[in-house]
Amino acid sequence: MKVINVSNRLPITIDPTIHRSSGGLVTALEGLAVDEYALKWIGWPGAEISETRRQREVEGLLEKEFGCTPVFLSKKEIEGFYHGFSNSSLWPLLHYMPSRFRYEPAWWDQYRAVNEHFARRVLESAEEDDLVWIHDFQLMLLPAMLRAARPDLRIGFFLHTPFPSYEIIRCHPRRDELVAGLLGADLIGFHTFGYLRHYCSAVTRLLGLEASFNEILHDGRSTAVGVYPIGIGSTRFEEELNGEAYARHLASFRKAYAGKRLVLSVERMDYTKGIIQRLDAIELFLSRRTGQDDVKFIFVSVPSRESVEQYRDLCEEVEARIGRLNGRYASVHSSPIHFIHGSVDFSELCALYSLADVGLVTPLIDGMNLVAKEFVACQRDNPGVLILSEFAGAAQELFSASIVNPYDAHSVAQAIEEALAMNIAERARRMQPMCERVMKMDAQRWARWLVHDLSRAAAPEQSSHSVLDASDRISDALESGKKVAMFLDYDGTLREIEREPSAAKPNAATHAVLQKLRNRPGLDVSIISGRTPDDLEAFLGSYQFGMIAEHGAAIRRPGQSAWERMDRNISHSWMEQVLPLMRLYESCTPGSFVEQKRTSLVWHYRRTDPQFGSWKARALVAELGVLTANMPLRVRHGKKIVEVTTTHLNKGAAILQMIGGNKYDLIVCAGDDATDEDMYQLDVPRLISIYVGEGETRAGFRVLNPAAFREFLSAALELPEPASKRD
Ligand code: UDP
Repeated sequence: MKVINVSNRLPITIDPTIHRSSGGLVTALEGLAVDEYALKWIGWPGAEISETRRQREVEGLLEKEFGCTPVFLSKKEIEGFYHGFSNSSLWPLLHYMPSRFRYEPAWWDQYRAVNEHFARRVLESAEEDDLVWIHDFQLMLLPAMLRAARPDLRIGFFLHTPFPSYEIIRCHPRRDELVAGLLGADLIGFHTFGYLRHYCSAVTRLLGLEASFNEILHDGRSTAVGVYPIGIGSTRFEEELNGEAYARHLASFRKAYAGKRLVLSVERMDYTKGIIQRLDAIELFLSRRTGQDDVKFIFVSVPSRESVEQYRDLCEEVEARIGRLNGRYASVHSSPIHFIHGSVDFSELCALYSLADVGLVTPLIDGMNLVAKEFVACQRDNPGVLILSEFAGAAQELFSASIVNPYDAHSVAQAIEEALAMNIAERARRMQPMCERVMKMDAQRWARWLVHDLSRAAAPEQSSHSVLDASDRISDALESGKKVAMFLDYDGTLREIEREPSAAKPNAATHAVLQKLRNRPGLDVSIISGRTPDDLEAFLGSYQFGMIAEHGAAIRRPGQSAWERMDRNISHSWMEQVLPLMRLYESCTPGSFVEQKRTSLVWHYRRTDPQFGSWKARALVAELGVLTANMPLRVRHGKKIVEVTTTHLNKGAAILQMIGGNKYDLIVCAGDDATDEDMYQLDVPRLISIYVGEGETRAGFRVLNPAAFREFLSAALELPEPASKRD
């Protein structure tokens, strides 16, 4: 069994010889191989290689020596997929910066095409029982593409960035496809509960699906969602801190910065990192300390995405600002900010982390921020203070850091002053629990945790086999001349639900199956619905089926035109008390409305804001529970409705009425809603009950949607081919 790890970039660099990159993620995933899995990487090798012969050569080397399968990208694809769609369109929105958002339709085409390339590569490699683990926002369409091709594949997706509020992601012209793309996975992981919550909200609002904070049901499958904060490669830090190179650098930095208190910031040069806002805070800090030059700010700013204009602009702005600050606050001996626009090597980085008195990590937003955790990992005997933005995912774990709002320059300046003044006992007291967590919940543990959950994520439902069984039983009964009765709900069962109930007239597909039902000898069909007799007559009056309206309050027997009322002896005086409450909910929930039937009251909220509607519905159900406590009433919270009916009327009782003295060899009932559950629990012999849709039910069989149900009926009603034709 293997884990196929799919990320935009392979963990290698080609310059032009091939080197393996190091880093937390690589170590973590390679750690998995030690456990029980073989590991394969699929991704872009980073370099643009267009010549076919060279591609084959690199591919061979990567496969043989590094266990990597390359996805080669053309110059045009790198431009549109990577710089364009991923970095200029998705990145700003995922980081709450719609003003930096750019979009060109051609980028979307490239993004989709590159995701398709990746899909082809994965499908070439994936064998039965393999786990596919897809990383990050460059590959948001890949889970759905793989799922369409391989329903059996176990697929995980981890988002390394934040997932923003629905109000932000909704700005993206391709929001629906992006959000739906992830649903091809069995498990979607996020760094924090906040990101998970936002994703679920986007799924509900954009795709109209029900999403709990554990799973999302869709297309007959379940996608689990979970929180997995990534850690650092703790062993690598531990080993480095015991190594010689580190000790050498530490000694040399100590000498170079003798007499200075150090405040360290390390990051990619990115507008999400809050560099300009941090410089505002540093300016405030410096302005309060004129004449003192004992504090040195060190900025390690790793160049990033320099082919994107906004990154080049940021770099110029930062350089100019630091230049002005240094000019203004420099003494004869030193300037306050030491700016390194480049990378430092790993031993140097560890020595800087270790020597710094303060780690100043103030992104405006950051999925996790590993620098904060790395700084913590390097605090040993004389621990420093971590100042951490509340907008970094890491702030959800590093509680005893000095948590700041990076937009509030005064409070950040104040936090720097306090950190520099903090005594050693307090620094150690704060650092110790953070250090324990960072070293324990490391990247290896993170990878094992996610893969463990993925390997246990729900296997695809094998419902189609069992439903075939039901269809065979019906067609066998009909073929052998047995008497069969069918009780079929209409909305959501024979016909797709519409936002506006009056729009759900039978369409061509529904008529086609109704005609088959009408023409099949030996079959008694009744439509059983919560709708009024008038509605049923208007929609289906031309068929001679039996009809049960308003959950059994009125019955029209097969072949007859007159309706019998079944509720003559039932009092409906309760409506006077219930109606005002429903009207109140109607007026304070825009888009909702009350439907008054003869025997029931229904509050519909399909057209409301989905979360607001469900929230109000739960409140209404609770209030109705109190109001109707001593009345013979049933309150049902169905699909986007809350309904109150008398306990005397329900679909199960109505079926018994309709059957009367008839003896059927087989009774089939089907529905899609809570009100249909009464049918499935009927105590009659030879009952086949079918539920249309997702979620819990007591029905014996399930199909996914009205189209699948119509298909099921057509198969069950199919007349056997004449013997001569079969021969
Ligand atoms: N880093 C690096 N070279 C440097 C400075 C930093 O490779 O010269 C690393 C740093 O150790 C950390 C990573 O860059 O692991 C930054 O990760 P983080 O999660 O903080 O931010 P991201 O760049 O992913 O937005």
